[in-house]
Amino acid sequence: MEKADVIIAGTGVAGLFCALNIPENKNVFMITKDAVENNDSFLAQGGISTLKNKDDYDSYFEDTMRAGHYENDKTAVDVMIKSSPDIIKDLIQYNVDFDMEGKNFSYTREGAHSNFRILHHKDITGKEITSKLLEAVKKRKNIHISEYSKMVDIIEENGVCTGIVYKKDGIVHTVKSKVTVLATGGIGGIFESSTNFPHLTADGVAIALKHNIDIKDINYIQIHPTTLYSKEKGRRFLISESVRGEGAYLLNKKGERFVNELLPRDVVSSAILNQMEKDNSDHVYISVTHLDPDFVKSKFPNIYERCLEEGYDMTKEPVPVTPAQHYFMGGIKVNTDSKTSMENLYAAGEVSCNGVHGANRLASNSLLESLVFAKRAVKDFEKYIDDIEISDFQPDTQCYNDDSKTDEEYRKSILNEIKRRDVEFYDKWCKHAG
Ligand SMILES: Cc1cc2nc3c(=O)[nH]c(=O)nc-3n(C[C@H](O)[C@H](O)[C@H](O)COP(=O)(O)OP(=O)(O)OC[C@H]3O[C@@H](n4cnc5c(N)ncnc54)[C@H](O)[C@@H]3O)c2cc1C
Repeated sequence: MEKADVIIAGTGVAGLFCALNIPENKNVFMITKDAVENNDSFLAQGGISTLKNKDDYDSYFEDTMRAGHYENDKTAVDVMIKSSPDIIKDLIQYNVDFDMEGKNFSYTREGAHSNFRILHHKDITGKEITSKLLEAVKKRKNIHISEYSKMVDIIEENGVCTGIVYKKDGIVHTVKSKVTVLATGGIGGIFESSTNFPHLTADGVAIALKHNIDIKDINYIQIHPTTLYSKEKGRRFLISESVRGEGAYLLNKKGERFVNELLPRDVVSSAILNQMEKDNSDHVYISVTHLDPDFVKSKFPNIYERCLEEGYDMTKEPVPVTPAQHYFMGGIKVNTDSKTSMENLYAAGEVSCNGVHGANRLASNSLLESLVFAKRAVKDFEKYIDDIEISDFQPDTQCYNDDSKTDEEYRKSILNEIKRRDVEFYDKWCKHAG
């Protein structure tokens, strides 16, 4: 029987930062379904929001609430915003390099932010943050990472989580633990069109549903307005919100603007969908041709290159874009210490729902949220982990031999739950996936 003090499922920012905050005298077992770098954290382009000074608190709070349709948990929003300066300091200690203007941070802005408060590293902020955290994790002797290892279930004993079941190379394994943290990311893998990695299929949420662990707002799923249009299937490339923040226009097939580009994502996505129907088209256009080409190339080198690969020089011509599933506001219900309704089980990052985003996430709040609440989980379980004893109970694992059956059951349970909560959303965005 494998044992660990703490199991973390997921190696995105939430999983990695959680692991780094755990004292080095505890052994930590991390698993990830794919290669260690293949997660949405590596894809984040725009940046990470932060409270740049005390005067910005009210405005940052209001922007987050307005984007979330005022359904946000105010305490969670307050905790996130107030914790942000310390989190940025932590990241800098892990050698994360944010873009600077002289000796000061360079801040950018994205849709629905009324102020420039987003730190960034070119347009590959997620890669910069996550690769530096991974580097630090790899140096820790107390942390072991197992790649291509899929969690297929948690182990439950009398309402307490005591470990996980996972599958690697076709073999089923169990690991027992004192505490388990689910950091399995988003839901995009169950959608036909998504910016997420396809292996992110909300497994943590499906497992929670199976064990009657509380779930919140499963139908709050963000559709990103602007992903690079392609006839091919597969992950959609994101044209970051910050492109609109810096002045890009959205155009219909006649080349006319049809929406205020800086409105919240859900509003812009719906406007695009309506426009596509009016134009009888499967895309609209984003245009930066009125901006200085050198500015575009230096500000968005990654996006510029990717568009070129697809045959579009964005400095010279409008680029076709279409909405796609992007972010999951709902998830496993947790408190502001990331504790789920099951004892000794925590959830952090996109798989969790502490209510910080309400009905719609404000751009660049999710890397921050993942980091803030992953750290808080550790601060919480640190208080009692030494009092927990690992039991010898071993579950029967035969039912996991055919994991394609489990995958299908999990996918269906999530889609059914979305449909049960919100038929309109289901019919508009995920009917084809059912
Ligand atoms: C294209 C793109 C751009 C974005 N840009 C920004 C941005 O600019 N700013 C911002 O704040 N946010 C942005 N986001 C959102 C942000 O990147 C994510 O919300 C955040 O990184 C989520 O981190 P996470 O650790 O929860 O999940 P992830 O980083 O997705 O990691 C999930 C991990 O769980 C593992 N996993 C999943 N299922 C299992 C299983 N069954 N067993 C074992 N392991 C499993 C995966 O392999 C992976 O390691 C962007 C997202 C995308 C897709």
